[in-house]
Order: sequence, then C-alpha cells, then structure tokens
Amino acid sequence: MLRVYTRHSADCDHADNAQWRRCRCQKWFRGVLPNGGAIRESGGTRSWERAERNARNKEAEANPTCIDQAPPPTQSPPSALAQE
Ligand SMILES: [Zn+2]
Repeated sequence: MLRVYTRHSADCDHADNAQWRRCRCQKWFRGVLPNGGAIRESGGTRSWERAERNARNKEAEANPTCIDQAPPPTQSPPSALAQE
C-alpha cells in the first residue's frame, strides 16, 4: 500500500503538514508494493489526485497476480514492430 504525502517547499504555509493536499508543492508517495518492494519516489506532479493515481498504477504494475495490466509482448503483431 502506497501513501501519498507532500514535500513542501520551505516557504509553504503548510510546510509542517505532510498530509496537506491543496498547496502547489510536489506530491510524493511511499510505502510497500504488492511484490514486497519498498519505494519512496516523486509522484511526478503537484496534484494529490494525480499522485494517488500514479501510486495505484505502481501498485498494479508490481502486482504479480494482475495480468490485465501487463499483456505479454508476444501479442504485438510483427508488422507493428517493423514500423518503429
Ligand atoms: Zn506546500
């Protein structure tokens, strides 16, 4: 389970509250993935909602039982690869 938090800039009014969502500071997430890997990384956004979504995507990617998210590469038609 990953949790989003805010890494505030030094001059932010809410710098003492990592759970504050509504400022324009960079959002990060940290926690443990379904495959057991612990991560802490930038959410790549200043939007809490988007960081949440990125965190959920990370969890889905790391979930070995979730086959929908990762189709095997052998399903790509050869012609599509040739055009790259
Ligand atoms: Zn802030």
